[in-house]
Amino acid sequence: MAGRRVLISGAGIAGPALAYWLHEYGMSPVVVERHGGIRPGGQTVDLRGAGRTVAWRMGIEEAVRSASTGEDGVAFVDARDRVKAAFAAAAFGGEGFVAELEILRGELARLLYDRTRRHTEYLFGDRITAVDDREDEVRVSFAHGPARSFDLVVAADGIGSSTRGLVFGAEARVVPLGLYTSYLTIPRAASDGSWARWHNAPGGRVVVLRPDNLGTTRALMSFLCPPRGYERLPADEQKALLRRVFAGVGWEAPRVLDALGGAEEFYCELVGQVHAPRWSRGRVALLGDAGYCASPISGMGTSLALVGAYVLAGELATRTGHRDALRAYERVMRPYVAQAQHLPPFTPRLAHPRSRLGIGVLNALLATAAKPTVQRLAKRVLPAPADRIILPDYHGSAAA
Ligand SMILES: Cc1cc2nc3c(=O)[nH]c(=O)nc-3n(C[C@H](O)[C@H](O)[C@H](O)COP(=O)(O)OP(=O)(O)OC[C@H]3O[C@@H](n4cnc5c(N)ncnc54)[C@H](O)[C@@H]3O)c2cc1C
Repeated sequence: MAGRRVLISGAGIAGPALAYWLHEYGMSPVVVERHGGIRPGGQTVDLRGAGRTVAWRMGIEEAVRSASTGEDGVAFVDARDRVKAAFAAAAFGGEGFVAELEILRGELARLLYDRTRRHTEYLFGDRITAVDDREDEVRVSFAHGPARSFDLVVAADGIGSSTRGLVFGAEARVVPLGLYTSYLTIPRAASDGSWARWHNAPGGRVVVLRPDNLGTTRALMSFLCPPRGYERLPADEQKALLRRVFAGVGWEAPRVLDALGGAEEFYCELVGQVHAPRWSRGRVALLGDAGYCASPISGMGTSLALVGAYVLAGELATRTGHRDALRAYERVMRPYVAQAQHLPPFTPRLAHPRSRLGIGVLNALLATAAKPTVQRLAKRVLPAPADRIILPDYHGSAAA
């Protein structure tokens, strides 16, 4: 399939990673991104298991490691900042709340962009408006640029993918998990050490502060709520909503709310999963969150995006027709995605108690789980992380 022109919608993590591999195999990637550039926002994302192996095969593992936020662990704190339970980064074999290989989402997106920009055409500030899948090519219309033809189109434009909507309609569903979450970057304060701090407030509200490697602090505010379309509101209305929802929350919540007004790197989403009965139709395929978002709760979104990009490009490079390649991509990836989408029972309610009593019970359970003896036992009795996949070796490189 050398020389094939592949249009990728979305320059998040999955899109540039796919561009990297397509170029490796002699194909010609074009990436269209709705925003005017690479989006810098978000918190730390984890690279686990096969995701780490793919990062290594892409030659970016060291760069990721050196851009690591270096968090020492996570502490659960009460309104007076007293630690109720604490997990060091090494807890649960480096695969717990803080993973062994972590990087700010925006830093990873920037790194992937830098690795691909010389051999990839990036169209910033544009988006696909129509896809006409003809037998021998796909004709694509854009909001701003002229229509163009491609051999394949890949939707890698995140959980709310409009490209997926254009091609798959209601067939692919976003399954909400009953939680809204928002991310913003705030100035560093003296109370921000090297640990992430997590505070539960009554009403199913959570505030998390995480130190980053750029001299700022990453704040997260999440709250239990059925889907109400808040993710589609303009940013200033989302900020006003957060001020209402988090009014009266103590600890460092007022500091985060104060920073909201000036926060440029702000992102608010309905936490959910994407369930699609198939990941391709004709010459259009789904990749990453657009096809199989597992939610930030899974901690697997970035690994799924990197592994998906690796497998999709590898199958396109080693099969003669795109139909066979897209079928094989889905065959390899489905079981891996199913494991990632299988969340623990009562997620996310367990981590977002509504009452003071519930918060007390949660903190007591966490304090028990944090004990070294319990962790040693857990290591022996808990099953291995459910992120197993045999990575095909498209390159002749060593298997994972
Ligand atoms: C700003 C931001 C912050 C995030 N922060 C976190 C976080 O803190 N923790 C976490 O676990 N996950 C976070 N995520 C999600 C995480 O990046 C993904 O779960 C995972 O990395 C898979 O990446 P992806 O490339 O499939 O999707 P995404 O990273 O969501 O990237 C999708 C890209 O497509 C672009 N896009 C959207 N619609 C269109 C369109 N119509 N046309 C063209 N481009 C479009 C978006 O601007 C974005 O650049 C964040 C996502 C974003 C966009």
